[in-house]
Amino acid sequence: MKTFKNFIAGKWTEPETDKYFDNVNPADTSDIIGRFPKSGRGDAERAIESAQRGFEIWRRTPAPARGDVIRKAGDIMVRRKDEIADLMTREMGKPLNETRGDVQEGIDTAYYAGAEGRRLFGHTVPSELRKKWAMSYRRPIGVAGLVTPFNFPMAIPTWKMFPALACGNSVVFKPAEDVPHTATVLVEIMLEAGLPPEVIQLVHGFGEEVGAAIVEHPKVPLVSFTGSTETGSIVGAICGRMHKRLSLEMGGKNAQIVMDDADLDLALEGVLWGAFGTTGQRCTATSRLILQSGIHDEFLSRLVERVRALQLGDGRKDGTDVGPMINAAAVEKTERYIDVGQQEGADLLCGGRRAKGKGLDGGYFFEPSIFARVKAGSRLEQEEIFGPVLSVVRVKDADEAFAVNNDVKYGLSSSVYTQNVNTAFRALEELDNGITYVNAPTIGAEAHLPFGGVKQTGNGHREGGWEVYEFYSETKVGYVDFSGQLQKAQIDTYLGTPD
Ligand code: NAD
Repeated sequence: MKTFKNFIAGKWTEPETDKYFDNVNPADTSDIIGRFPKSGRGDAERAIESAQRGFEIWRRTPAPARGDVIRKAGDIMVRRKDEIADLMTREMGKPLNETRGDVQEGIDTAYYAGAEGRRLFGHTVPSELRKKWAMSYRRPIGVAGLVTPFNFPMAIPTWKMFPALACGNSVVFKPAEDVPHTATVLVEIMLEAGLPPEVIQLVHGFGEEVGAAIVEHPKVPLVSFTGSTETGSIVGAICGRMHKRLSLEMGGKNAQIVMDDADLDLALEGVLWGAFGTTGQRCTATSRLILQSGIHDEFLSRLVERVRALQLGDGRKDGTDVGPMINAAAVEKTERYIDVGQQEGADLLCGGRRAKGKGLDGGYFFEPSIFARVKAGSRLEQEEIFGPVLSVVRVKDADEAFAVNNDVKYGLSSSVYTQNVNTAFRALEELDNGITYVNAPTIGAEAHLPFGGVKQTGNGHREGGWEVYEFYSETKVGYVDFSGQLQKAQIDTYLGTPD
């Protein structure tokens, strides 16, 4: 079995702890991909020291040259797309068409970030005073600590790493412990693309140990975290205390609303993909389906029929619609929520248990599950499950649908299916989410638009698009006075005597 290493101080190195963990294929737990370092605080500290040296090189590298490295990384990802998708499915489980999409998101992010190296715009504005220029421009910040979740092993790290690097920061990357192989390949790609070695550090291991060590380190002024709201609260408390710049992207409880006037065929395809794609393990997954009463019964019976026909299996096999869950803890959490739903009196229409049978017994498979008659405000309807469980709520009209959508602590994405243009625009205005889709499922971000949620999904920052460049750079203002005189802002006005 292959033993993998950290990348610290420009070298692939063993962990100081001399401890390792197995990376397991969730579709077949007898398939061990490799042993990865279970690093400790000392490894994180060495990585941060090295990243400080890397920062001194990288911050002085012209931004267009930084962008070129990222663009080349995109080119390498294009060449290796199928290979990366295959190894990603092996460690993460989602089907190959989804892991190809995950790599494609990384490619798109690389090309956007590469070009951003030639923009990184500031502003030049007229000064209040004569013979004086006033401008703002962007500066790199320092060592960025990047902590990422398991569900998008390539896309989410690139959402953070590429803009961080384009802005001139160095990075210490702590990937989720369930997907260390894809992370290793991403770092190999960055080095092949020409990134100076000390600009990037990869520290494998567990969140409470190495993740916490990075977040708590005083020489890491910038932290970007994606993961659960619970972990984000811990990270947020530390960063708040230490006055760090922090981006949080956390949980969701996203709803698809289907109005009586909707194209039901389209809405059906939307919810199948939104709820059960990635086995429900997307931050934007549809976990609530809000149906208007006129179409409720018909839509639900068609949906249950389609869900029962979904093909579970190894994501690397042809014909698989739904792969395994990520690990045993995720299956157990889903089982607990099935119990919660039943105790709360919801009707379990399908699924509700571990999937058994040929090709399934050795993996973390769970049957796609639907609860009907779910009460707004119940735990099943309010809490993030992060598994293949859909809760259906019946409503009488758009007002009630919007109220149910908004009455959760999360605010990532929402979707409305309607043929009525007024309802569509009202939804865009009223739904309290970072992203609202009209006649499309709750999932599917595009790399050149900001991505993120409101309320307890995030802390106001966004990944992607132009906004993330604000997060990874500091605005500095420069004034150049070429009048040769002392001019006093707010005191000498433009009405003074011209020379
Ligand atoms: P998680 O919170 O368990 O772990 C995320 C990362 O944090 C991992 O790398 C983990 O090792 C690390 N970590 C754990 N404890 C830590 C600590 N004390 N200090 C520092 N780091 C620590 O999340 P997960 O199970 O990997 O991912 C699922 C969650 O991520 C879901 O809640 C999902 O909604 C969320 N998510 C959100 C978005 C978004 O953009 N909003 C995207 C994807 C996933």
